[in-house]
Amino acid sequence: MATLRFDALREVAQRKPLEIPLPSDKLSDYYGINVFTKEKMQDYLSAEAFKAFKAAVEQGVLLDRNVADQIAIGMQKWAKERGATHYTHWFQPLTDGTAEKHDGFIDFGDDGNIIERFSGKLLIQQEPDASSFPNGGIRNTFEARGYTAWDLSSPAFVVGTTLCIPTIFISYTGEALDYKTPLLKAISAVDKIAVEICQYFDKNVTKVNTNLGWEQEYFLVDRALYTARPDLFLTGRTLMGHASAKDQQLEDHYFGSIPARVTAYMHDVEIEAHKLGIPLKTRHNEVAPNQFEFAPIYEEANLANDHNQLMMDLMKRVARKHNFHVLLHEKPFAGVNGSGKHNNWSLTTDNGINLLSPAKTPKGNMLFLTFLVNVMTAVYKSQDLLRASIMSAGNTYRLGANEAPPAILSVFLGRNLSAMLDNLVERVSDTKMTPEEKTALKLGIARIPEIMVDSTDRNRTSPFAFTGNRFEFRAVGSSANCAASIIALNSAVAHQLNLFKKDVDSLIEQGIGKDEAIFQTLKKLIIESKPVRFEGDGYSQEWRDEAMRRGLTNITSAPEAISKYLSEQSKEVLIGEGIFDERELASRVEVEYEKFSKKVQIESRVLGDLAINHIVPTAVAYQNRLIDNLCGLKKLFDESEFDVLSADRKDLIKEISSHVTNIKRLVREMTEARKNANILEHEQDKALAYDKNVRPIMSAIRTHIDALELVIDNSMWPLPKYREILFSR
Ligand code: ADP
Ligand code: MG
Repeated sequence: MATLRFDALREVAQRKPLEIPLPSDKLSDYYGINVFTKEKMQDYLSAEAFKAFKAAVEQGVLLDRNVADQIAIGMQKWAKERGATHYTHWFQPLTDGTAEKHDGFIDFGDDGNIIERFSGKLLIQQEPDASSFPNGGIRNTFEARGYTAWDLSSPAFVVGTTLCIPTIFISYTGEALDYKTPLLKAISAVDKIAVEICQYFDKNVTKVNTNLGWEQEYFLVDRALYTARPDLFLTGRTLMGHASAKDQQLEDHYFGSIPARVTAYMHDVEIEAHKLGIPLKTRHNEVAPNQFEFAPIYEEANLANDHNQLMMDLMKRVARKHNFHVLLHEKPFAGVNGSGKHNNWSLTTDNGINLLSPAKTPKGNMLFLTFLVNVMTAVYKSQDLLRASIMSAGNTYRLGANEAPPAILSVFLGRNLSAMLDNLVERVSDTKMTPEEKTALKLGIARIPEIMVDSTDRNRTSPFAFTGNRFEFRAVGSSANCAASIIALNSAVAHQLNLFKKDVDSLIEQGIGKDEAIFQTLKKLIIESKPVRFEGDGYSQEWRDEAMRRGLTNITSAPEAISKYLSEQSKEVLIGEGIFDERELASRVEVEYEKFSKKVQIESRVLGDLAINHIVPTAVAYQNRLIDNLCGLKKLFDESEFDVLSADRKDLIKEISSHVTNIKRLVREMTEARKNANILEHEQDKALAYDKNVRPIMSAIRTHIDALELVIDNSMWPLPKYREILFSR
C-alpha cells in the first residue's frame, strides 16, 4: 500500500546538500562568460562589422548581408570556443516559457562534402513551423510558416552546447505571435513621448529607457515527492491535499535560515545565472514553507525580460541536479501563500535621470511629479487592461483571494506623498496662479525629497506600489512572461503621456507659461485619478466596499478579466499606440481564453482520474478494513456490547461511503460539464463555461477528498501529503 509515497519519503530522508565549488574567487572571472557581449564582439568582429552592428542597434540602420555574414562567423567562432555545436533562434511564443529549435552548424559544402556553417542569413532570420504555437486564428492552415528575426538589442548566449539567438516571432503575414515584438514596440512608444516631455525640462534628453527589476517567487519540492504526485507533475499544482497542521502560521520560514540543500541549489543557480550575465543579487525565503525568491539588479526591460525567461529555465534545469523540482505555478498549494512576480518598473533618461525619483531641485521635482502623476493616471484609466495583462488560470487563485494581490488595481504612494498631492491641488487655483500660489507650489515641490525620506511605510497589500524611485507591479503571476504586463503598462503610460502633452501644448498655445501649463494639467490629473490612490489594507472587505463606491473595478474571473483587453479604453491604448493591430489584439485574446480553458480542462481530467483510481479505491479498501474489524468484533462480543463498541466505526463507514458516493457523482457531473464546454464554438464562451461550470465542481470534489485524507489510515494514503511536500528538504 502507498509504496510510492513511502519510497519517496525514504529517498528524501537520505538526501544531502551538493557541494558546489565557485568557478573562481573572482566574480568578474566568470560573469557573462556565456554571453556574446559587445566587448566580446569587438574581439571577434572586424572594426567595420562592429561599427555596423552598433549603428543597427542604436540607430536602427539595416544590417547588410555581408556584415551579417561577418557577425555570424565571429559569433560562431566564439560559441564554438564555449563548446557550442548547435544554434537556435530563441523566442517567446504565447505559451508559458520559451521555444527553440536546434540546428547543428552542419551543412553540405559546394562539393557536396560536409562542412560546418553558420551564416548571416541563418543568424538574422529563420522560418520555424508556426503551426504548433498558439496564434489565435491568425495563421491559415495553408500557411503555417512563421518568421523569427534576430533581436539585436539582446545579446546571444550559450546554454550547454547551443548558441541561442534572441529573436522575435511573427507570422508569415506579419502579425506578432510572441511577447517580444509588442514589448519592443511598447518600450519604444514610451521612449518617444517621454523624451518629448522631458524636453520641456531638459533639452539634453534624447532617450528614455524602461527598466525592469523582477522578483521571482517559487516553491522547491523534492523530486521524489513531486514524482509521486501526478497532479503536480501534470498540472504544476496540487489539486487536492488537506492543509498541514502547521504551515505558515508562525511565519518561521520567512525569517528562518535557508536550509542547506536549498542554499546549495541557490548557490548553483547564482553561478550559472552570473555566467549568463543575469545580475542575480538577492535570494531569500518567502512566506510559505519551501517558498523562496530570486531577484537580480534591474536592467533595461527587454533584456531583463529575456533574463527572466532564461532564469525560469535555468532554475528548473539546476533543480534537477539537486533532486528538486521548481514550481513556478501561482498557487501550487491551497491555504498557503502563492507565488508572484514583482515587476519593479522605472524610467530613466540617457543622461542618467530616474524620472520616478524625487530630485534636489524644484525643476527636477516637477519632472518627477509629471511622470508620477501620469503613471498613476494611466493605471487608473487602464486598470482593466492591466488586470487583463496579469490574468491567467493560475493567477486567479491569488487575485482577490485574501493574499497578494487584490483584484482591484489601486496605487499606493505612501501617506505623505499622497497628502502632498492633495495639498498641492487644494492650494493652487485653476485659474491663473497668483505669485503667492506660485511660491506655495514651489515650496511644496521643494519638500518632496524630505517627505520621501519619512515615507518608508511599505504597503505589502498594494498591487501597484510606489517604492521611492520606482513602481512595483505586484500582481504579475510567477509563471507569467513579464512582457505581458510591461506591454500593458508601457502602452497605457505612453498613451497617457501623449494626452498630457496635447493638453499642455494647447494651454501653452493659449499663452499660458510652460510651467503653469504643466502644473494645471497635472492638477487635473491628480484630481481625476484620485480614486485609484489607496493607502490602507488591500485585503480587507472594507476596501472592496470602498473601491466599489469609488467606481474601481474588481474582477476575479479570468475570462471576464481577459475580455477587457477589448474594452474601448484598452483598444484606444493598444491599437492607438500602434502596439497591436485589430487582428493581433483579437488573436491574443483568443489565445488567452484558449490557454485558460485548456489548463482547467487538464486539471479537471487529472482530478477526475485521481479521484476515481487513487482516492476511491483507497477509501474503499480502508472501509473494508473497518468492515472486517466490525465482523470480528461481532463474533467476540454480545449484541449490547457490540452496539456500543461499533457505533463510531459504523459512523465512519457511513461517512466514507458518503464521500465516495459524492465524489463519483461529482466526477460524472464534471465530465458532463466539460463535454458541454467543449462543444461551444467561441473560445470566450468555452472559457466562461470552464470557469463557471467546471471549476466549482473541482473544488467540491476536492473538499470530499481532503476530508477523506483526514480519516483514512495514513499508511494507506497514496499521495504525499502537504506536510511532507512543504516541510521536507
Ligand atoms: P524589495 O525590498 O522589494 O525586495 P529590492 O531592493 O530587493 O526590493 O529590489 C527589488 C528589485 O527592484 C530589484 O530587482 C532591484 O534591482 C529593483 N530596483 C531597484 N531600483 C529600481 C529602479 N529604479 N527601477 C527598477 N527596478 C529597480
Ligand atoms: Mg519588492
